[in-house]
Amino acid sequence: MTTDKALVLVIEDEAPIRCFLRAFLESQGFRFLEAESGEEGLGMAASHQPDVILLDLGLPGMDGLDVIRRIRQWTATPILVISARGKEQDKIEALDAGADDYLIKPFSVGELAARMRVALRHASSGGQDRPEPVFRVGALSVDLAARRVRLTGAEVHLTPIEFKLLAFLVRHAGKVVTHRQLLKEVWGSVRDDQAHYPRLYVHQLRHKIEPDPARPRFLRTETGIGYRLEEADGPEDVNS
Ligand code: CA
Repeated sequence: MTTDKALVLVIEDEAPIRCFLRAFLESQGFRFLEAESGEEGLGMAASHQPDVILLDLGLPGMDGLDVIRRIRQWTATPILVISARGKEQDKIEALDAGADDYLIKPFSVGELAARMRVALRHASSGGQDRPEPVFRVGALSVDLAARRVRLTGAEVHLTPIEFKLLAFLVRHAGKVVTHRQLLKEVWGSVRDDQAHYPRLYVHQLRHKIEPDPARPRFLRTETGIGYRLEEADGPEDVNS
C-alpha cells in the first residue's frame, strides 16, 4: 500500500522532537497532527481518527501507558511507542497494554519509517478476517489456509502447537510479540508453570524453519521481551 496520505498523530511533550518528527514525516508524505499531552492526544485521536499514532510514554499528566489502554478501549489504530524508557519491563508493559511496536530514543528515521510501514500495512490488511495469502520471507513460505510450510521448496512438518505458534507470528510479522502474548494466544493462558513454553517451542521451530537455527534469519529474539518474525517480502516478490 502507499502511505502517501496517511494521517499520523504524534503525542509528545517535547517541542523539538515534535518539530523534528513533523519535518521528517511531512517529507515522507504523511499528514501530521500533534498533541502535547495524553489528554489532548486522546481527544485528537477520537476527533481525527488518525491512521497511526506515535506516542511518547513520559508525558505530563496522564502517563503514556494509560493513553495506550484508553485508546485500546475503542480502536485498533496502530500505536508506535517512542520513548527514552529503554528497560525491558517498560517495553513489555507498553506492548502488553496494546502498543504495536516500540522505538527507543534516539532512533533512526529509517527505522521509524520501516516500523510505520509495517504498522500501516497491518492496519490496512483489515486484521485477521480476510483470507491470508501465502506468507513468504526468503526461503520460507507459509500457507496458513492450507497449513503448509516450506523451506527452500521442501515441505516442513510441524506439530499442531508449532504451527499455531508460527501462524500467530505470521499474522504479526514485522512486529514484536511478547512472551505473555504468545502464552495467551498460543497456549490459551498465562501461567507461571508454562512461562518457558515460548522459548522451548521457538527453539524447536527454528530447527525446522531456519536454514541456520543458531543464527536465526526469520524468527528473531527480542532479548527479554519476546520475538519478531521478519516482515514478508514485498508483494512484487510474492507475485513473481
Ligand atoms: Ca516526554
